[in-house]
Formats: sequence, structure tokens, C-alpha cells
Amino acid sequence: MHDATHPNARNAPLTSPAQSLWDLAGDTTPLTRVIPTRPAPLPAICATRSRLVVLASGSTGNCSALIHGEGKNLRVTLIDAGLSPARTKKMLATMDLTLDRVDEVVFTHLDADHAHKGWIKALPDHARFWMHKRHRSRAGRDGFLRRKTNIFESDTFELARGVRVLPTLLAHDQLGVAAFRFEWCGERSASLGYATDLGRVTDELTDRLRGVDVLAIESNYCPVMQRASDRPDFLKDRIMNGAGHLSNEECRGAVAAIAPKREVVLLHLSRQCNAPDLATRYHDGAPYRVSVSAHDTPTRPIPMAI
Ligand SMILES: [Zn+2]
Repeated sequence: MHDATHPNARNAPLTSPAQSLWDLAGDTTPLTRVIPTRPAPLPAICATRSRLVVLASGSTGNCSALIHGEGKNLRVTLIDAGLSPARTKKMLATMDLTLDRVDEVVFTHLDADHAHKGWIKALPDHARFWMHKRHRSRAGRDGFLRRKTNIFESDTFELARGVRVLPTLLAHDQLGVAAFRFEWCGERSASLGYATDLGRVTDELTDRLRGVDVLAIESNYCPVMQRASDRPDFLKDRIMNGAGHLSNEECRGAVAAIAPKREVVLLHLSRQCNAPDLATRYHDGAPYRVSVSAHDTPTRPIPMAI
């Protein structure tokens, strides 16, 4: 289906020289080139009606839904798609949303708990994947590039009129992971920081996310529980070596440097080496609200602006 036939065509991604769209000239990979579209003279998506729901987060699957607007102007962005389409469908149904309302999936990286291969078939025709250039080869091998895909690097890109994304690449295993600052630039502005599966917190990350209204960030493990666990040493090393995951304390340090204005959502808690009350204890007395994502239950809808 061509974008122009979709109800959300007005919010179709725009291309611009600043947008880091992979030049496909001479490339045999069957990516779909994005046809530049003119910005429609419609109001930008407003942060007031935009909300984040973390559908699930953890080693068994990660998926968050960013729901912008309502009615005809509704737009749904998934951040990662690590749950099966069937499971995602059930969770979206609790919010009266169907899979065909998904407009894009923005991937942090393509590990199986963030990129379920069922989405290669299940992605609606009008929708597209967004992924970092570092993940492109893996996406080709895994089959994701059979669907409309946009590739970004470090430049800002626009998901829809009034919704822009500022990505940053960080250490995680071999290929790294993308963290994002989402900004709503309409009548009511707001920002969301989203960072998971981080090896370590860098100045670049804290600079990019500083002062966001809402920050979703991983708080993966308690080092004491990690060391005491019966996990093999290579796995403990992988998690704690600075290219794996953030501990509760590292998460708190990152949050202190970023200084979010209103709310922190803790992501990707290890079932074996962490606990919600332990992770939240690190934020006792903080001037922001703390929510914890779960492995199997969606969070409440977290408004981007109040
Ligand atoms: Zn993960």
C-alpha cells in the first residue's frame, strides 16, 4: 500500500538532507526507497495527547508503544518489537488498538528479545522499520530488510510532523545499541529519553537526554545478586563488562546526570538478579515519579505532557 492511501499519510516520515537515509544506489539489498513527501499543512502532533506504554520489558521480550494523538490523527510507534505479533496484538487490544494501527517500529538493536522475526510478516503494509546503520547487515541476514526500512546514524530524523528523534549509539555486545530522545515540537512540546541494554553511560548519552520530561532507562541487575547467581562466569562477565547492561547503581548515576523533569520508567529488570522494590529503592527521595516495567504486564499510559 502506498503511504498516501493510509489514514496517517499526513504524518508520513519526511526526508531531508539532514536525515540519515541510507543511499541505496547500486545496492542490491531489497530495501524500499522512501519517496520524499511534501509536508502536509496540518498541525504538528501535540505532546498533550501522546503517551508511552511499556508493554513488556526484560530478557523474554521488549516492546513499548508510543501512542500519539487520537481518532483520525492517531499514530502508533513501537520502540522495539521483541514480543511476538500475537502477544503484542493482545496487549494493544487492551487499549483498543489493532496491529494495523502500528505505523513504525524503531529498533534499539536487533537481539531476539528486541526484534521478534514474526514482525517481518506481521508489519502492516504502510508501516516501516527504523534501525541504526550498524544493525543493517544483521537485519539483512535476519530478513528484516524485506520490509520498508529506514536507516539512521547520528542525525535527527522525523517520524511524523512534529515528532523528531535524536539517536545516539552506545556500547552493547558487538554491534552496539541505539538510545533515543523523542521530541514533540507542536503547540505543547515534550521529550522522552529511551535507553536500554547499555554497556555504560557516556557523556554523549547524558548530554543528549538531559532534562527530558520522561526517561525510560534500564536498571538491569543488582551486582550482589548477579555474582551470587548460578549463571556461568562468561554470562556474568558479558553483562557487567561495560558492554552489557546497567546495574541499579549505574542507572541511578545516569538518571542523576540526565535530571529528568517528571518521571523515570525502569526497564529490563533481570528476573533472576533484580527485584522491583530493590531497583526503585535507589531512587528514594528523588524529585521525579518512578515506575517499573514488567515482563508480562503493560505499564499505565504515561503522558508525555501534563
Ligand atoms: Zn535486551
